[in-house]
Amino acid sequence: MYKKEAWWSDTWDAGDYGREFDFNRPFFSQLRELIQSVPLMDLLVDKSYNSDYVNFCNNNKDCYLIFASNDNENCQYSSYIWSCQDSVDCLTAYNSELCYECVEVNKCYGCKYSTHCTNCIDCIFCEGCRNCQNCFGSVNLIGKQYCFFNEQLSKEEYEKRIAELRLDTHEGLERAKKMFTEHRLKFPMRATQITNCENSTGTNLSNCKNVQQSFDTNGAQDSKFITLGDKPISDCYDITGIQEAELSYYNTVTGVPGYRIVLSVYNWNGAKNLLYCVQSPSAQDCFGTVGFHKARHTILNKEYPKEEYEKMCARIIEHMQKTGEWGEFFPASLSPFNYNETIAQDHFPLNEGQAKELGWGWRPKDSKEFQPATVQIPNSIDEVTDEITKGICACEICAKNYRITAQELKFYRTQRIPVPKQCPDCRHNARNKIRTPWRLWTRECAKCKKAIQTSYAPNRPETIYCETCYLAEVY
Ligand SMILES: [Zn+2]
Ligand SMILES: [Zn+2]
Repeated sequence: MYKKEAWWSDTWDAGDYGREFDFNRPFFSQLRELIQSVPLMDLLVDKSYNSDYVNFCNNNKDCYLIFASNDNENCQYSSYIWSCQDSVDCLTAYNSELCYECVEVNKCYGCKYSTHCTNCIDCIFCEGCRNCQNCFGSVNLIGKQYCFFNEQLSKEEYEKRIAELRLDTHEGLERAKKMFTEHRLKFPMRATQITNCENSTGTNLSNCKNVQQSFDTNGAQDSKFITLGDKPISDCYDITGIQEAELSYYNTVTGVPGYRIVLSVYNWNGAKNLLYCVQSPSAQDCFGTVGFHKARHTILNKEYPKEEYEKMCARIIEHMQKTGEWGEFFPASLSPFNYNETIAQDHFPLNEGQAKELGWGWRPKDSKEFQPATVQIPNSIDEVTDEITKGICACEICAKNYRITAQELKFYRTQRIPVPKQCPDCRHNARNKIRTPWRLWTRECAKCKKAIQTSYAPNRPETIYCETCYLAEVY
């Protein structure tokens, strides 16, 4: 593993690790040896400014512990956020500012504890609202102001009720959360969040055309099984983490731009015509190539003249057809990550025993990360002193240690939010439970009984409406 600055430097050559293909051995065992010998980048980060602790990120400034997120400034503890500023603890947020504990929001400002809201300002504990301002605990409202649990109040009455809630304290916050959890179930939910799409299925989709079974994706067409995708995407299939890519199949992290990248992981920046390649930005016409910036006509990192490369590829494919490896994705045993370190755990959670039974790694608890707390977290943000940034906190759920940074303390103070008593992982898990998984179920609309596809599992407590019934209800 190299630090990314060293990895990008010209002080080493991935071609030095090149080797002959051995037709007497399976392909994946040869690739495994190559993966274990070639230096890989410590973090997949491009254009990062004062943001040392982020991963799968591009173009972020002054950010801390954000993941799979691009073009953000001064954001912390968030995943899948795009073009956001001064936000903390968000999961899937776009073009938003000063948001806290929000899930799947777009163009929101100053919102907290809200889900599926668009164009909202200073809304707290709201869900499915659009163009609202200063609303609390409200569901499915459009263009409202000063609504409190969906009841219209005067400005004065609204402000009085908000002050009474004491949202600056853990006690007040827990009470409000409980009230909202009950209140929201009185309202129907939209089966899927699909905006400005044509002939597309999935959820959290926007501006897509002919896209099936895809999630958290914007601006794709003629594609299927895409997750975490951003425009333009066309003719792609089975990819997680994709932006600006075409004709690609079965990848993790590809694009900006990428073309005809097949059965590969982490290849971007003009990567083209790749098969079974790993972390090789700007590589073109390569097979089984690892950690090789700008590689050309390489197989197991060994470079060949163009014609010989093409002949070799044909022979290797024939060999892999015989070994049964051709067309298969990398076996999980080649993954450098344990199961509970990956986002698979968010969407398909397993326990240690289940993961091990499938032959997948499991990261054990490190006792060093579970020390007794050296600071106590007060009930109200007003009682917190700067000393808290010097101590170690212990999560009230899992007991794991975490710290409060000066940057986040400033945010909690200006936003009047109590300092969290849970570690960043447990906070992420809680947000992950609010949102629906990358999966669709066939159910019936609770109103018209029409068959619908929804990301709400049948055992969830929400009432689910089809798009037509939902729109008739809220407009
Ligand atoms: Zn925890
Ligand atoms: Zn219906």
